Amino acid sequence: MREIDLVAEADVRARQYLTEIEGRPPFPTLAAREALTAFSEDLPSQGADPFETLNMLDVYGSPATTASNGPRYFGFVIGAALPGAAAVERLMLAWDQCASSYDNSPVAATIEKVAASWLLDILDLPRESAVGFGTSATACTLSCLSAARRSLLGRLGWDFDQDGLIGAPEIKVVVSETVHITVRKALRLLGFGMARLIEAPVDQYGRIDPRRLPALDERTILCLQAGEVNTGEFDPFAELIPVARAAGAWVHVDGAFGLWARASSRRSLTDGVDTADSWTTDGHKWLNTPYDGAMSICRDADALAQAMNSDAAYATASKDAQKNLTLEFSRRARGIPIWAALRTLGKAGVAEMVDRHCEQAAYLADRLRNSSLTVLNRVVLNQILVRGATDNETARVREAVIASHDGWFGPSIWRGQTAFRLSLSSWRTTNTDVARLADRLIAIARGQND
Ligand SMILES: *Cc1c(COP(=O)(O)O)cnc(C)c1O
Repeated sequence: MREIDLVAEADVRARQYLTEIEGRPPFPTLAAREALTAFSEDLPSQGADPFETLNMLDVYGSPATTASNGPRYFGFVIGAALPGAAAVERLMLAWDQCASSYDNSPVAATIEKVAASWLLDILDLPRESAVGFGTSATACTLSCLSAARRSLLGRLGWDFDQDGLIGAPEIKVVVSETVHITVRKALRLLGFGMARLIEAPVDQYGRIDPRRLPALDERTILCLQAGEVNTGEFDPFAELIPVARAAGAWVHVDGAFGLWARASSRRSLTDGVDTADSWTTDGHKWLNTPYDGAMSICRDADALAQAMNSDAAYATASKDAQKNLTLEFSRRARGIPIWAALRTLGKAGVAEMVDRHCEQAAYLADRLRNSSLTVLNRVVLNQILVRGATDNETARVREAVIASHDGWFGPSIWRGQTAFRLSLSSWRTTNTDVARLADRLIAIARGQND
């Protein structure tokens, strides 16, 4: 019974936390952060009481959380956790499934297959694709790029699994000048070498300029972006991908948040993206699922299954087991909260949420354009880049807004200029929250910090 009491107590505290989420400062106060010294204790030699441990986490931990699950967190593209997705996570904790294959967890394997097919449906990507549910877009990019290199080498007659990279034909990688840092990380981990990456020049919006696309061939991986992290812009897929495919290159698309535009009325921003070879996207950003849930999607299902294969001998019978589509072997059923998010929102709900955030971004940008602040991007999606008259003014405005608790957002640099970036991506953010942020930003920029 003690176990049940403990879980019930955790549930009471979790419910209390959520009840207060709207009133929490988006970033924890200095006092709350200083109180974290309570955790600086020695590892106890005898186990502590679990109720007391839970109490400690709540008393000192909860006030020091970043309220990214709340309505006024505008940093990065973090999203919140949809109730429908967060609730199934609670039940899944009780299940404690090792979701590596059907044999380990029939329920996880069955639901993740459904989630995979729904995902291909809502994002309108090739239905024959394999979908791996990994921890993050970073990890999923690593999986996709492994599959890409292994496939290109295979076409050249090189057995990557047996012979590795020493003596292999060189696979070149072309990335956007504005490629996300985590794609660089994945490439570095895979041994591509940062100095050997070929950067494709971008236009003023941060999109690869097709006229200046570096030469591609059958030994090239081209990495494109659906949703550049600063501007929310999309590479011109319909122009770039046919050129790449004709050259025999592999096209990978980083769509960590932006690929969800495809499920909304902004769909035309993604035209042609479905002709790529592989894609990564996150659940934990714009779909508003809990951490950590992301997807690697690969048109050639066998290419991903072979690259990520964990079985002693590659067996086609288990090619759709998640242990053969992700970096993980033992794993949580990350596809289940994604299934729950899609099921509880439906196609219309996803479209409505993405559209709402884009409209909120457009409203906020309009308000700011009529102030002394400068909006640096076109705001085609949910990202707004803002700058004051000087670097100091930009920093002052950001710090003063954060101190007001009307919003938290991060600094950025765009085309050599200091800026800050506002992301609209939480299901909890209402139009009132956005108006309140606009009022505060404008008042502070005017020099009134009331
Ligand atoms: C956040 C982000 C990533 C990395 O995603 P994680 O899930 O945090 O690993 C990659 N690309 C873009 C454009 C992103 O915004």
